[in-house]
Amino acid sequence: MNTKDLWLSIIKDLSKEISRANIITWFKNTAILSTDENVITVGLPLPVFLGWHERQYAKVTLKAAQKQNPDFQQIAYVVDATLTDQNPQVIDLLKHFPSKVTRKLPNKPEVKLGGGAVSKLFNPRYTLENFIVAPENRLAHAAAMAVAKDPGMNYNPLFIYGDVGLGKTHLLQSIGSEMLRNDPSRVVVYTTTETFVNEVIDGIQGRNMQKLRNKYRKVDAFLIDDIQFIANKDRSAQEFFHTFNTLFESGKQLVITSDQPAHQLAQLPPRLVSRFQSGMTVDVKMPDYESRLAILRSRCQEAQAFVNDKVLEMIAFNMDTSVRSMVGILNQVLAQYELEHVAPTVKSVSEIMKRSKKEVRTIGFIPEDSTPRKAVTLDHLVDLVADYFTIPKSEVLGSSRAREYVLPRQIVMYLAKKKLNLSLARIGSGIGNRNHTTVMSAIQKMTSQLQNDRNLLCDINAISKEAGIHR
Ligand code: ADP
Ligand code: MG
Repeated sequence: MNTKDLWLSIIKDLSKEISRANIITWFKNTAILSTDENVITVGLPLPVFLGWHERQYAKVTLKAAQKQNPDFQQIAYVVDATLTDQNPQVIDLLKHFPSKVTRKLPNKPEVKLGGGAVSKLFNPRYTLENFIVAPENRLAHAAAMAVAKDPGMNYNPLFIYGDVGLGKTHLLQSIGSEMLRNDPSRVVVYTTTETFVNEVIDGIQGRNMQKLRNKYRKVDAFLIDDIQFIANKDRSAQEFFHTFNTLFESGKQLVITSDQPAHQLAQLPPRLVSRFQSGMTVDVKMPDYESRLAILRSRCQEAQAFVNDKVLEMIAFNMDTSVRSMVGILNQVLAQYELEHVAPTVKSVSEIMKRSKKEVRTIGFIPEDSTPRKAVTLDHLVDLVADYFTIPKSEVLGSSRAREYVLPRQIVMYLAKKKLNLSLARIGSGIGNRNHTTVMSAIQKMTSQLQNDRNLLCDINAISKEAGIHR
């Protein structure tokens, strides 16, 4: 077996234990450089990989290698800057580990349900558990839970309204899935108002309204999304009114969403509006900052992606009008992360946000203009380096000797001296109270290492650029 195939078998084996996101992140552009004697030498594209591999993956990698050949005794790592996408040695991981997560929902296939009814499959991502409860949507969530538990009982119809992108469809679909989970024999129909209207039009054209009536009037629960679109569609409104009454009278659950409260749906027949008002009405509003952050964190967890908290905080802080747009930004960040292998930083994410939103407010350390030299302090530098290496700030300041922390710490000291011109004593006291000789030797070490470590130079340049101190 050649080394490339060997490495692929090892990675495939590792993927049983390591998440796809981590495989894509930490094994991209890696390769086995040689297998001399009992040692496998693995090349890594960047210095930041060293610590990760040594700490997280060395043991499991050796185990996986030994499955291929029990003679292997050791894994050695070296950083090799020639390991880029162009290098024929490296494996195209995206090809071997294609994404299973579909970012955009495809048209949901239809499923046949009992009683001849047809329902759209519910999006499995929309569940009551992964709906983050905030003060602004607590009541809506509670009502959804109650309805899913005891359909047709206390809250009928349930009318959910709120601006776009605040979770109405999520709640509506969760109710459907939950009802089916509680009792798979139930006939639960979810439809968008648009589909309903089209079906009415088809019914009129084909002179076959009965088909539509059979479909909707025999269900146990009828969930209809975005009812505002029925405005001015008189035949559809009329048809819906009768469907509503038939179901309601036989104790079946109805759940309706709308972008406005019922009384503002002026283009709808008043008798329909008064039906909507006869049950339970709840609204959803934009969740507060903490809840938005919680939504982002849970999304990252779902995607098994590690994104720096600072980055998430900034997204949550800025995206304060629609959860959908906020999640959209996060999805772009994750896509960039995956495709271009760029670890998201506050800076790179604010670029993404600027593309979709005119003004981005940055919290903390990102300088507002492009010549922020004055603004950069030692503390900013620590933040920036921590972000760059995606390690906690406390580890930059701390005393761990682990390689993935030592290098960033030395970089901070180096830049603080060379670019910010701070005294050794000042740097020492700012970075975990070290004395000035420690600082000096770190700087000397960086200076000499920079002579022949191209990767280190790249890292330092990138960080300086981001801090606006590269000149
Ligand atoms: P609407 O139907 O109100 O326009 P959606 O239900 O389509 O909004 O929600 C938009 C996106 O935001 C979805 O991806 C949804 O999962 C997400 N979302 C909205 N509110 C929440 C929440 N409270 N917790 C988790 N995700 C949410
Ligand atoms: Mg919706």
